[in-house]
Amino acid sequence: MNGFWPPTAPGSPRYLLRNLRIPPDLCGLKPAANGWCQADVLINGRHIETVSQAGEITAENTACIDADNSILISAPVDCHTHLDKAHVAAFQDFPAGDLLGAIDAMAAQKKTWTQETLTRRVEFSLRSAYAFGLRALRSHVDYDNAPEFVWQVLDDAALRWRDRIALQLLPLVNISALAEPQDRRAYYQRAQHYGRLGLFLYDQPDMEALLTPVFQHAKTQGWDIDLHVDEGLDPTLDGLDTVARVTLATGFTGTVLCSHCVALNSYDAVRRERVIAHARKAGLDFVSLPVTNLYLQGRNSNGVPQTRGMMPVRALKEAGAMVSMGADNVQDGFCAFGDFDPMAVLNIGAQVGHLDNPARDWAALITCNPARTMGLEWDGVIRDGAPADLVLFAARTSGELSSRITPERIVIREGNWLVLKAPDFREL
Ligand SMILES: [Zn+2]
Repeated sequence: MNGFWPPTAPGSPRYLLRNLRIPPDLCGLKPAANGWCQADVLINGRHIETVSQAGEITAENTACIDADNSILISAPVDCHTHLDKAHVAAFQDFPAGDLLGAIDAMAAQKKTWTQETLTRRVEFSLRSAYAFGLRALRSHVDYDNAPEFVWQVLDDAALRWRDRIALQLLPLVNISALAEPQDRRAYYQRAQHYGRLGLFLYDQPDMEALLTPVFQHAKTQGWDIDLHVDEGLDPTLDGLDTVARVTLATGFTGTVLCSHCVALNSYDAVRRERVIAHARKAGLDFVSLPVTNLYLQGRNSNGVPQTRGMMPVRALKEAGAMVSMGADNVQDGFCAFGDFDPMAVLNIGAQVGHLDNPARDWAALITCNPARTMGLEWDGVIRDGAPADLVLFAARTSGELSSRITPERIVIREGNWLVLKAPDFREL
């Protein structure tokens, strides 16, 4: 028997994709008994003309492709990466350690960067992301000890890629480095350029006092705030609760995105529920970063795997929070694994976080939710008039989609079918 995949590309800009499976969160149709929206999508040039239940569109004289129940999602979005650091593992072995050890190792490694090698790594990462179908990506950029050329390289990349990947950048700094007003002023100059700022929160004893003026300033400027918070299993970490308190006390109304938050799983149930409710009251958004957490948390010298870190994604969703999932560190001192494929991240994160049927029920974590958190023009819902920026997978079920770490796909951008390959690692 001949294999179905890949279907033949349409020969015209207006074409009908029939018999698709779309996750219910990603379209407005009523799901079928199998839980999927069984849909047809009529594409016309750069946009979706019509989305309807399978079999309802009659488009005579229109190219028609039977997708045979292949899964379709909107082009993914990743709201938490580190393009400046990605792929340095190709050049150095890092001591496998904990979070603070990784910070030290990366600080030393940073001294070897040049404008040329950084440009090459950033380009490699973006080509990978594009091949996997990403349409938008947010990247932290280390503020401390950053060579001056880092900002230029990243700004140039954002400009070069703007028609393919919307790149949101922000400077990331340890909140302890902002204790003095003159330090904050210098940092704000960098944040001003991007309209958002990034802070690393861990166990700083004076966290609330340090955060308050930063939130106050960001509020006056209309900036968004993006936080690394509670990236550890120690139950004494209480950054998330502090962030909720400061957000409410300062009346901050921009987007506050909290990443990691794996300490929540070390709390008892009563405390966890209380902190999540507090975070909800403050309107905080979340992004789970399972690959880095699997790598960093719970390591010990005897090689016996222990408790791993994982944001309680299901509990946060049930509480009504906006939750996304991101790649975070890719092949660097914080995580020697990973790539920029959001579907691979979702498949891993779903398995660790016990998120059943990930492609059907959790696809919003890598599409609509990060799009909303990032404030993108299109929220990723597949509806009439939406951009024809989509990904069609060679799979019909979550099981089929998760069985191969980087599943095969056709990336559709502005209606065009692109069969892309991630770049060869030898190019690094
Ligand atoms: Zn990160």
